[in-house]
Amino acid sequence: MLDAGRPLWARHDEHVPLPAVPGLEDGDDPSLLGVVVSHPHLDHYGLLDQVHPSVPVYAGAAASSIVGAARWFSPRGPALRTAGHLRDGESLQLGPFRITPYLVDHSAFDSYALVVEHGDSRLMYTGDLRGHGRKSRLFERMIAQPPAGVTTLLMEGTQVRPASEVTPPLHLGGSESDVEEAMAATFRATPGLAVVAGSPQNVDRLVTTYRAARRAGRTLLVDLYGVAVARATGRSTIPQPGFPAFGVWVPRRQRVLVKERAEFERIAEVRSIRVFPEGLAERPGGYVVFTSSSSVAELVHCSALTRHGVVVWSMWSGYLQEPSGVRLRDLLAGAGVPMVEHHTSGHASVTDLKRLVDAVKPGRVVPIHTDAADAFGEYFPRANVHEDGEWWAA
Ligand SMILES: [Zn+2]
Repeated sequence: MLDAGRPLWARHDEHVPLPAVPGLEDGDDPSLLGVVVSHPHLDHYGLLDQVHPSVPVYAGAAASSIVGAARWFSPRGPALRTAGHLRDGESLQLGPFRITPYLVDHSAFDSYALVVEHGDSRLMYTGDLRGHGRKSRLFERMIAQPPAGVTTLLMEGTQVRPASEVTPPLHLGGSESDVEEAMAATFRATPGLAVVAGSPQNVDRLVTTYRAARRAGRTLLVDLYGVAVARATGRSTIPQPGFPAFGVWVPRRQRVLVKERAEFERIAEVRSIRVFPEGLAERPGGYVVFTSSSSVAELVHCSALTRHGVVVWSMWSGYLQEPSGVRLRDLLAGAGVPMVEHHTSGHASVTDLKRLVDAVKPGRVVPIHTDAADAFGEYFPRANVHEDGEWWAA
């Protein structure tokens, strides 16, 4: 089984049944060889806690550690337990299936597309991917050296819309480099504190923010969640304590967690690079704080973030329409703090998806992860729509 996602539209307390795959729930069907998780987003692994523990799960090692690190702060979603790890280009044999992971560019770290071979059939699953992030070379590599002989391409279509609903000029939101450029300009133009509200698990965005802060001559401060995720990547190239112009700000909620769980080393180990609200208020123009949107209010209340500062919204703009987003906007408006949006999607544009299909030349394209399955035929040759829960032969 490829992925075991919980739909993002499901409420926290809502029960979402597992798909009807024999052995998934009770673990007593030997024909179920395992679940291969493409990447650490809840809509790809969020049902794992309902999967029987005897069913092996395969995912990236860093993906699994990032989920583990994140759950300490926000226990939403199950652990990403693994029986084996996915590695770029290293095939895995599961019964009659040979599965080859390809590291891809996406807003989640350690994300893979998967090619599953059996006999003459070769099924390629894109997972979630894009061609405009910090690892766009991975997308270009796939275009230049696509897997050969793909009979079925299961392709994500988050950005696909029926052509009739697309009004030019098409706004694509730019690349991560464009976001870096725009952030650096905003930081330079702002005399006070700059606060970037983003997802601590979007490691690309952490890198983008760090680079933009450096370009504007500011020190980047992340919270303990950001530090834990950066470390969990296991990559020394990802900004983390020890990097120049890198510091830590600890929001109240995280101080409480540390105290409640008596894990004081989490704060002790960053003591030398920790910046307190007084430090922020003293030299607000010297810093960029990268944190979750829920911690932004605290920076207003402690007077570090004023009308001379700025909030950069660096997530999907739809969250700003939700109750918590509305509360934040009201708070900022009341305090006179300006807000700008610098963001780009974790998902490929239709233009890049077309390049992918042209390169892979699959026997057919089956839409997944999309609101516009029926529109695939407008853009991609040999599009075959299959309904949820329908069994068909690849
Ligand atoms: Zn994703």
